[in-house]
Amino acid sequence: MAEIPQKAQVVIVGGGIVGCSIAYHLTLRGLTDVVLLERKQLTCGTTWHAAGLVGQLRATHNLTRLAQYTTELYASLERETGQATGFQQIGSLALAASEARFEELKRGASMARCFGLEVNILSVGQAAELWPPMATEGLVGAVHLPKDGQTNPIDTTQALARGARSRGARIFENIKVTEILVEDGRALGVRTEVGEIAAEFVVNAAGMWAHGLADAAGATVPLHAAEHFYVVTEPIPDIPRHLPVLRDADACAYFKEDAGKLLVGWFEPVAKPWGMEGIPESFSFDTLPDDLAHIEPLLEASIRRVPMLGKAGIQLFFNGPESFTPDDRYFLGETPEVRNLFVAAGFNSIGIQSAGGAGKVLADWIVDGRPPMDLWDVDVRRSMPFQRNRRYLKERTVETLGLLYAMHWPFRQPETARGVRKSALHDRLLERGACFGETAGWERPNWYAPPGVEARYEYSYGRQNWFGYSAEEHHAVRNAVGLFDQSSFGKYVLEGPDAETVLGRVCANDIAVRPGRIVYTQWLNERGGIEADLTVTREAEDRFLIVTAAATQTRDLAWLRRHIPEGARAIAFDATSAYAVLGVMGPKSRELLGRVTDTDLSNAAFPFASSRVVDIGYARVRASRITYVGELGWELYIPTEFVQGVFDGIVAAGEGLGLRLAGYHALNSLRIEKAYRHWGHDLTDEDTPLEAGLGFAVVFDKSGGFIGREALLRQKDEGVKRQLVQFALDDPSRLLYHNEPIWRDGRLVGRISSGMFGHTLGSAVGLGYVENQEGYADAGFVRSGRYEIEVAGERVPARASLRALYDPASLRVKDAGSQPLAGAAT
Ligand SMILES: Cc1cc2nc3c(=O)[nH]c(=O)nc-3n(C[C@H](O)[C@H](O)[C@H](O)COP(=O)(O)OP(=O)(O)OC[C@H]3O[C@@H](n4cnc5c(N)ncnc54)[C@H](O)[C@@H]3O)c2cc1C
Repeated sequence: MAEIPQKAQVVIVGGGIVGCSIAYHLTLRGLTDVVLLERKQLTCGTTWHAAGLVGQLRATHNLTRLAQYTTELYASLERETGQATGFQQIGSLALAASEARFEELKRGASMARCFGLEVNILSVGQAAELWPPMATEGLVGAVHLPKDGQTNPIDTTQALARGARSRGARIFENIKVTEILVEDGRALGVRTEVGEIAAEFVVNAAGMWAHGLADAAGATVPLHAAEHFYVVTEPIPDIPRHLPVLRDADACAYFKEDAGKLLVGWFEPVAKPWGMEGIPESFSFDTLPDDLAHIEPLLEASIRRVPMLGKAGIQLFFNGPESFTPDDRYFLGETPEVRNLFVAAGFNSIGIQSAGGAGKVLADWIVDGRPPMDLWDVDVRRSMPFQRNRRYLKERTVETLGLLYAMHWPFRQPETARGVRKSALHDRLLERGACFGETAGWERPNWYAPPGVEARYEYSYGRQNWFGYSAEEHHAVRNAVGLFDQSSFGKYVLEGPDAETVLGRVCANDIAVRPGRIVYTQWLNERGGIEADLTVTREAEDRFLIVTAAATQTRDLAWLRRHIPEGARAIAFDATSAYAVLGVMGPKSRELLGRVTDTDLSNAAFPFASSRVVDIGYARVRASRITYVGELGWELYIPTEFVQGVFDGIVAAGEGLGLRLAGYHALNSLRIEKAYRHWGHDLTDEDTPLEAGLGFAVVFDKSGGFIGREALLRQKDEGVKRQLVQFALDDPSRLLYHNEPIWRDGRLVGRISSGMFGHTLGSAVGLGYVENQEGYADAGFVRSGRYEIEVAGERVPARASLRALYDPASLRVKDAGSQPLAGAAT
């Protein structure tokens, strides 16, 4: 065994393509004191057997940028390192065997153009010219990405390793890391079978082993292995050479021509999880047993698409494990639990095409102390502690492999490992027709089916089966009163004599208010980017209740805790499970709540943005006058064990007031009409409050300042180059989801960050940043343009507004006696 050093600046665990890419990019950034440890040999885990497809189009802008970068890197790696990679830019062709799939592909193509990718929408005939051996039966169209490619995974990994070594990285094979050393919540190095290495940073790039390694260190990296199958044929005499990679997602299959042979692999809808008893210690360049019965129907469907496959001899039946994550997206970044412990794992069968970009941004993240761009889609801080549960992971993995090629329907909900986190009202809501969706493990009512209607999604790209029911919920909130179960909110309490000072530095708004006030605020990073978007309620001089979205529960708490200075007398704890939350929203909410509480709810006694503890039924409830739907309303924070009684009381009192239970689809429609922003879509750590139109929530001159203030002041002086704008489509039949390109006077200026049908405005409504490539995106620039939003390749005219199209003056929120102002202002 080679002698390992006693210390290094960075230790990377795992010598697959991802670990080697991180070493390559760290050294490229000048951080050369890097040690990579591989338990057996480089590539011996999952990398060696990958099919080597390198596609560029991903679900979001930044992930596509990373995949694009990977392609560029692989194209140049051989030149740089002298190590052949086998990379060929032969393009890819994605087939559609249904109109819905074609719409999905065309929407993807619209997005791809927005990202600068070369992409062509093809007729069936044009597709057949590119891939002559295929049968075109049942096809309706295709999309061609000429710059996609394929590579040899082993050679590409070796090239990355060579590049890293040439700049000083040390790579040790046959050294297993037995433990990540952690003290006081910080990684200090690793223990191996032959000694310890002290390190400033540790990177867990251990592929399907990453879960166990992280778990032992107290960090959550939820992933599970599954079997992945492909076959390789004998040489086929008549097959044309250099065919593009072919994806026939409706048949779950991909086809790669290589040296006159065909490799055919599958992403089947019901997959086989693997490694439940742990991964054998000896695992190295191993394969898993064949399962011909499992792949037979898949092979038959592939033969129908490529008939010459039926006559070809099969040289290799391959089955190898790959790791999958609960939402089919990989994990990147510093773990929220352990400082300086980074992770890059769980690549869901796209690790080869992702490794270049992932390695680059992770290296940037380590060197600069922050991610170089919004990486929320893959950020490890989205994981929830419960997701370490192995039964959950195994059951979810049955589904996630197939999702790669499944229809990516709007509003699609996972089907496995459901019912994990339930609100205390779950059974009551189920009885009343709730159709649940899943967020961060929570079951949340998305819409309610009326009696006699099954609470089940029927997916499509058009108006789905719940559209009308959700519209009724929306109108009930606008015109009467709606009741939302919002128990999934993340909730923390920050308490202690220094709580105000600590929180004051973190919040851009002024939270030094009197007890009983609610403050809407952003948490910013040093660049002024928005790390979190939430409300702070001062409960007492020394106690604040912080409320954020379900999806950011882990992330925001980690941000808060890391900004409590050492020695400060303030502690933060997670109170998510302690409180259920009911949103009582709509013009009749006062009348309704007035029937269940004796507290004076008048504007004078209970103004907007105030909060107090009131009696409802037998419970003591924190009632907060705040809204995310743009109407008069209260959020009720109820100790969990009291919520059933409170709910029953409110429902009974709603008799005759038009009360309706309302779900998250209605909530989303209502909030987009009111142009309320959503963190993760409309707000990210790249966007500043000034760009996002949230300058009103920033108090520059408060005592003690706040993180991000200086960057924001500079931007305020200079002006913003992009600005969040609200759009409403002219054509009410077209729907927006997100990522649709925004055109201004015929030029691409941005993309939709979130969209939904607005039932009061009567058309699809979206938010999106508009950029002025030549100057500043001031109000004059925004207002002077003519806008179109591209939906599946067609440009649909839209009106744009910097103020909310619904109730721009917030008269209804403040209960100033106004009537609905649908479409009043642009
Ligand atoms: C059949 C198949 C086909 C695929 N085809 C494609 C494709 O066409 N395109 C694509 O993009 N992706 C593809 N993939 C996915 C791709 O192979 C993986 O996503 C990628 O290889 C993951 O790389 P990694 O570095 O994260 O993991 P790995 O390659 O598994 O590397 C992790 C390494 O960590 C080492 N290790 C673990 N624990 C320790 C420890 N304690 N100490 C030291 N070392 C440790 C392991 O030995 C291993 O070598 C395919 C996967 C499969 C199974």
